[in-house]
Amino acid sequence: MGVRLDKDHFQCHTYFIPNGSDGVLIDPGSPLTIDGTLAKLRSITDLGAIRWLVCHHPDPDICAALPRLGDILTHPDVQVVTEWRANALIRHYAHRFSTYLVEKHGWCLPLEGGRRLEFQLTPYLHFPGAMVSYDTFSHTLFSSDLFGGFVPDSSVLESSDATYIIKNAQPFHQHYMPSRELLSAGLARIRSRWPRIDLIAPQHGHIIAASIVNEMFTAMAATECGVYCLADADVDLKRLLRIAEARRQLSDALMHQSSPLGMVRAMATILESSGQPGECELSVNMPIDGWTTWNAFTDHPELREPPADWHHICLLGHPAMVLALKGEGGRHTFDPDMERMLREFTESMRPWVDHLLEDQRKAVEVATLNLAALTDPLTGLANRRALAEATLPASYSLIELDLDHFKDVNDTFGHEAGDRVLKQLARVLNASVREQDHTYRLGGEEFLVLLPEADRETALLVAERIRLSVRQLNLEGEAPGGRLTVSLGVSTKNSSQPCDFSRLMEQADRALYAAKGSGRDRVCMADGTSRGGP
Ligand code: GH3
Ligand code: MG
Ligand code: MG
Repeated sequence: MGVRLDKDHFQCHTYFIPNGSDGVLIDPGSPLTIDGTLAKLRSITDLGAIRWLVCHHPDPDICAALPRLGDILTHPDVQVVTEWRANALIRHYAHRFSTYLVEKHGWCLPLEGGRRLEFQLTPYLHFPGAMVSYDTFSHTLFSSDLFGGFVPDSSVLESSDATYIIKNAQPFHQHYMPSRELLSAGLARIRSRWPRIDLIAPQHGHIIAASIVNEMFTAMAATECGVYCLADADVDLKRLLRIAEARRQLSDALMHQSSPLGMVRAMATILESSGQPGECELSVNMPIDGWTTWNAFTDHPELREPPADWHHICLLGHPAMVLALKGEGGRHTFDPDMERMLREFTESMRPWVDHLLEDQRKAVEVATLNLAALTDPLTGLANRRALAEATLPASYSLIELDLDHFKDVNDTFGHEAGDRVLKQLARVLNASVREQDHTYRLGGEEFLVLLPEADRETALLVAERIRLSVRQLNLEGEAPGGRLTVSLGVSTKNSSQPCDFSRLMEQADRALYAAKGSGRDRVCMADGTSRGGP
């Protein structure tokens, strides 16, 4: 029953359900349209048959004709059918009708003859209390602004061309609907309440034929909306949709990427596909490691600040997180609205970053515990367990050593003096070996040096250096006579030898035993030769 407005892409449709003296006028119209609508109505019905005025929301293109209808309609009980939030505004049109609040009647309007109109709230689409209605007799959905569209050609009212309708409906939804989430939620409610819809009759745009109803629901539910909150000044819809799409992809990435590397890779792809080509890096100032930077092209983070000459977007304050972008050809032309979206988006990354920090804290804790478990607390040398976990090179030598008559130290000067001597010995050991060698305290006053790649001669040289250094220690007041000596056993493994570690240990042990047996203060080889001695 609507009228065509000249050169208007925003056509408004009014529908009439004839039902004896219980007729329903849906979304009546405004002073711009009402006279044309009434003329059409008169041609098919007595105006006295109009009893219900369904107003899906309080916009003037729906309700501004109410006062005029008050002068014209003659049914003794005309009622405006709407929801309370809409009514709070509709009453300001100062119409004379009473109101039928749908929520007070079970979201339903029973009509004479068993026909019913059912109502469904579709919150914020685009009014907080917006609703749609459904005629149980014709299975028509009167969808109000949902499925509405711009009308480039007002001679087309009904269509079954999905592509054409979607093309006109999508921009309308992008302009008017607050978000894709709200839109798809509203559509889902409608779909589950009324599985059978034979026609969709929106207030704007085109009447949608049964054959494309499903397709329309799918297309509309996937429409990016609410994009005008993304820009301050430039409201170019295409650009805003790109930013909105990037925002959506970022949230998806956040759900699926647990590692910063995955996140920075996703960010790089998203920024590239939204027209921001170049490289990007994510840097977080970690409490323990300091600046840690992830790049989409490398597998591991680097301990460094974000590159100084790239464009920096500061995403979070505590801890500091920066997204650094290298424009193509060194240019830094980054869309400022995209930048703002990124900054706003990263507030939702906070739990994700907290998780990252927590992981790091735990890793450090575990590393500290591991280190403690592998270290001898008295001397700070690695312990027997560390030796068991060490990766062995293909060829190496072992020097096993044991203080001579150490028991006398304890007996004469006390256990604490003994401890000090052990610490001194550890220092001598570390000072006497090469950088690549490893020193262990096996227990008591027994020590081991592992010398990677060291042949027999090298090991012998190192062992002899240890022996002489210990001899030269001034242990006044800590050892009888202020001096101590050490006995050492050496064994060597060549890469060609199949001999395993425990065999090598056995050999070194036997050599040490031989050194003790042949008078102490000397180095013995596994093959029985010896060096040193008084
Ligand atoms: P030998 O020349 O045959 O090796 O004689 P020794 O006296 O050095 O050897 P023995 O095995 O008889 O005695 C080792 C002593 O080392 C006995 C033990 O009390 C002492 N000892 C072991 N661990 C520690 C330690 O952590 N601190 C101190 N102060 N003494 C220790
Ligand atoms: Mg000893
Ligand atoms: Mg001993």
